[in-house]
Amino acid sequence: MKSHKVVIVEDEADIREVIEYNLKREGYRTSTVADGEMALQLVRETLPDLVLLDLMLPGLDGLEICQRLKADAETRQVRIIMVTAKGEERDILMGLDLGADDYLTKPFSPKELLGRIRAVLRRGPLQQEQASTQPLVRGPMLIDREQHQVQLDRRPVDLTATEFRLLHVLATNPGRVFTRDQLLSRVIGENASVVDRNIDVHVRAVRKKLGEHRDLIHTVRGVGYCFRNAAE
Ligand code: CA
Repeated sequence: MKSHKVVIVEDEADIREVIEYNLKREGYRTSTVADGEMALQLVRETLPDLVLLDLMLPGLDGLEICQRLKADAETRQVRIIMVTAKGEERDILMGLDLGADDYLTKPFSPKELLGRIRAVLRRGPLQQEQASTQPLVRGPMLIDREQHQVQLDRRPVDLTATEFRLLHVLATNPGRVFTRDQLLSRVIGENASVVDRNIDVHVRAVRKKLGEHRDLIHTVRGVGYCFRNAAE
């Protein structure tokens, strides 16, 4: 099996070494870099599967790097997990809006680190929500994209068009955290009424209809929502 390539961007030497040690032990191919400008260059040259990106860096900061990688067709596909200090919620939101896949807050355990990496890499190439008309199966849920219908435990769930889009966007990328702004632009669009623009209201409505499976939509405190199947 081909091992995944990971670039570790971290200016604190001890943290960098711990991360690298744990990743190598799991069989990942790693390269490390401590400076923002060099990080950008290294990612462009090596096109890794994943970048572990510390946000507070000398030179370019992590958000800037994230933005540049996502703006460039060559590097857009590279997965990014942000590594943040406590209290950087605004940066986390901004990073997710820029296209980062996930984030880890320091301090984290090796187990948490490896779990997140596995989860992000398992998602494979970035999924386009409209890419396929094949039904989407997520645990007890089946989403029929052609018919715009959802079944739970083989029973139809009656959703509005907005609720369907919301559930579909979340379920297309399970485990991925979406900010409210991202959900707004994907699900509701720019021209909706003020009432419609309250994503929390739509989430609440969908959850109610999911009944005992309401936890499929997970609240990420201070950040947004993600689809999570406990059985996975
Ligand atoms: Ca740092």
